This record gives sequence, structure tokens and C-alpha cells, in this order.
Amino acid sequence: MSNASIGLDETLHAYLVSVGVREPEVLRALRERTRALPRHGMQIAPEQGALLALLVRLMGARRCLEVGTFTGYSSTSIALALPEDGHLLCCDVSREWTDVARQTWESAGVAGRIELRLGPALETLDALLADGAAGTFDLAFIDADKPSYDGYVERALRLVRPGGLIAIDNVLWSGRVADPAATDESTEVIRALNAKLAADERVDLAIVPIGDGLTLLRVR
Ligand code: CA
Repeated sequence: MSNASIGLDETLHAYLVSVGVREPEVLRALRERTRALPRHGMQIAPEQGALLALLVRLMGARRCLEVGTFTGYSSTSIALALPEDGHLLCCDVSREWTDVARQTWESAGVAGRIELRLGPALETLDALLADGAAGTFDLAFIDADKPSYDGYVERALRLVRPGGLIAIDNVLWSGRVADPAATDESTEVIRALNAKLAADERVDLAIVPIGDGLTLLRVR
């Protein structure tokens, strides 16, 4: 018996999803479709989609930002939780992946709430800041290339309003962050970001061991 968060085996994870996720059919179908892609491991877990949707509703979020859209599971989860006039700005570099996302947004009836900007997200976020969008977002979800993570978080800290939320995926990185022998670039960047945020006075923080680890930051 321990108070530590438990790792889920396949059976317990399936049970969690069966009772803990009210997954819309459009998202279930997207999981099926994405499973056939070579990079399908980049999709968030269904329970993460449920958590993001709950947070969006809990906050009454209206303007959201996503860095790393892939085939659209997280963006669709967020957009479905937004009010009719809500807005989600998605950043990604892949036309191929986001074409799947676009079709999913159409099927889910949320395409009108989502704007996709294709291109390096650091440039998109800098353009938003230059356009005066600082402090105008309620929530940002970051789940893209890990070497740029610190840059994404720093920009999100300016774009999200005080009291808003920044969620960062893959912060436990399959356990590699706690393995001193792992010294590849992505691991080092996530490890350094985790250490920085742990003592960062600009935010309140909780790391939730859901999926591959999700950091939740409340902007002060
Ligand atoms: Ca991820």
C-alpha cells in the first residue's frame, strides 16, 4: 500500500476508460483511424481528453490555444467543451495530420470554433504576441516537439491571462526524466523545464500522472 500514483496495466486502463471517459463517437472513431498511423503514440489518452474538457467547462473558458494538434483528439475534446462562440487556435506543422483533424472537427460540428495555423508554433505565438494577444487566452495546451517546450511555455505564460491554465503533456516522458542515464535532448529539455517550473513564482502547479504526465499551471 502506497500513497504514490499507480501505474495502470492494460486491464485497469481499459476499466478506467470504461467508467471514467464519456467519449463521443466522433472521438472513438478518430482513435481507430489514428491507430493505423505510424506516429499514433502522439495521440493523447482518452482520459486526458476527458480531463481537458472538464477543465474547459469548469473554467468557463472561451479562448483556448493548442500547440501540437496532430490528428485532432485534444482539439476536438476542447472545442466540444467550449461554448458556441468559443474559439480554439491550433498550431501545427503538418498538413497531413491536421487534414485528419479538420475532418474530425467537421464531423464533430466544431469546425467553426477552431482556427488552424500551419507553421512553426514559436513563430505563430510570437506573431500573436506582436498582435497584442498577450493575456487574452483562458487556456493553453502544449503537446508538440519537446526541444521547443520551454519556448512554448514562456510564450504561453504571456498569452494566457492571470488565473488561466496552461497544460503541458509528456512531462514524465515514459519515466526517462527520472533516469539519470537518459541524456537525449528531449529528456534534458523536459527535465530542465520541470525543475524550473517546480520553483516558478509566476504559477501555481500540479503534475498529474495521467497519460505520459500532465503539468497543470495556473498563471498568477
Ligand atoms: Ca503528447
